[in-house]
Amino acid sequence: MSRNTTATTSIGALAHNLWQVKQAAPGARVWGVVKANGYGHGLLAAMRGFDKAQGLALLEFEGAFALREAGWTRPILMIEGAFEAADVALASRLGLSLVVHDLEQVAWLEASAGAGAGPPLPVYLKINTGLNRLGVPAAAARPLHARLSHCRLVASVGVMTHFANADLPGGALAPMQRFDEATAGLPGERSLANSAALLTLPHSQRDWVRPGIVLYGATPFADRSAASFGFRPAMRLTSSLIAVQDLQPGDSVGYGSNFTAASAMRVGIVSCGYADGYPRLAPTGTPIAVGGVRTRTVGRVSMDMLAADISALPAAVVGTPVELWGSRVHVDEVAAGAGTIGYDLLCAVTARVRREVTEDFDQVAT
Ligand SMILES: *Cc1c(COP(=O)(O)O)cnc(C)c1O
Repeated sequence: MSRNTTATTSIGALAHNLWQVKQAAPGARVWGVVKANGYGHGLLAAMRGFDKAQGLALLEFEGAFALREAGWTRPILMIEGAFEAADVALASRLGLSLVVHDLEQVAWLEASAGAGAGPPLPVYLKINTGLNRLGVPAAAARPLHARLSHCRLVASVGVMTHFANADLPGGALAPMQRFDEATAGLPGERSLANSAALLTLPHSQRDWVRPGIVLYGATPFADRSAASFGFRPAMRLTSSLIAVQDLQPGDSVGYGSNFTAASAMRVGIVSCGYADGYPRLAPTGTPIAVGGVRTRTVGRVSMDMLAADISALPAAVVGTPVELWGSRVHVDEVAAGAGTIGYDLLCAVTARVRREVTEDFDQVAT
C-alpha cells in the first residue's frame, strides 16, 4: 500500500561497534558522539545502542534535553559549548559538560556564577591545533585554564582538541605534540581522539575518546574499510522494485538518457531517489542489492526513483526488496561512487523515509 522506503537502525550493531572501540582503546572512557541525530540513525536509538558508553557527546541542546528526558543519567558533553549566555544555566540544570572554545564563553561562565545558577559543571577548554575552526590558541591555554578554574560555576577544567587530519597517515602527530606542549602540567582530563585518531594513534586516546563514525559502522579513512577494523553497518536503507522495464539495444533509461543498453537487458525501477537522501551524483555502476544479490545502478538518480540492472536476476519482479546500503552494499561504497563520504549519506536520509529500529539485522533478508 504505502511506499516502503525505510531506514532501519540496528541497536545490536551500534552496541557491537562500541564494544570494538573499547577493545581498541581499553584505557579510555568513551564519549559516544551522537550529534546530527546520531549521525542520522536516530538519537534515542543511538542512546540505546551506546548504553555501555561512559558519556554521550553532541552539540544540539534540544538533543541533550531529549537524552535526559529519555533517562540518560551519565555525562553529556556539549562539543560546541554554549551558543548564548542562557545556555550556561541550561547546561547546569541538565547536568551537561561544556566545551569552552572562545573568550565569550569564558565570560558567560564567569557571569553566571550568581544567584539562580545551578550546580557547578565540568568544562573542557578546547585548544586549536590546526583545524582552525573552533578552539583557543595554544598560548591562551594556561591563562584561560586558570580563569575557568576560578569560576564558581565550574566543577572541573579538562582540556581537549579536535584534529584536522587524523584520517591521514601521521596526520595527528604534530597537532598532538602541540596540544601536549600547550597543556603540559595543567590539571584535568584530556580528550583528543576522534574515530581515526583512536584507531591509528593510540597515544592520543588519553582519558576520553570521542568516536563518531566508526560507532555507526562506516570508515573515517579513504583507503581502509570499517569492516577491516571489525565494525558493522548500523543502518540499512531499503526499498523495493515498483516497475520492471525490458530494454532493447539502444534504449536508454532515466533523465538525460545518459545510460544506453548495449544489448537487451532488464532494469528494475527502485522506489528511492535523491529526495530520500540517496546521492544524485551516484553514477551508473554504483553497487545496489536486489533480492539479496549485488548488482549496479544504471542511469541518473531522480527525485523519487532510480534504476538497477536486473538482467542477471530473472527472479526480480515488482515487489522484490532492494538494499540501497546496509550489509550487502556498504554505505562507504555508495559514498565513494558519489564522490562523498559515508558520514554525508548517513546524515542525509530525509524525513519522508520510514524509520525502524531493530535489535539486530537478520542476516538473511534483503
Ligand atoms: C564529530 C566529532 C567527533 C567524531 O568524529 P568522527 O570522525 O565521526 O569519529 C569527535 N569530536 C568532535 C569535536 C566532533 O565534532
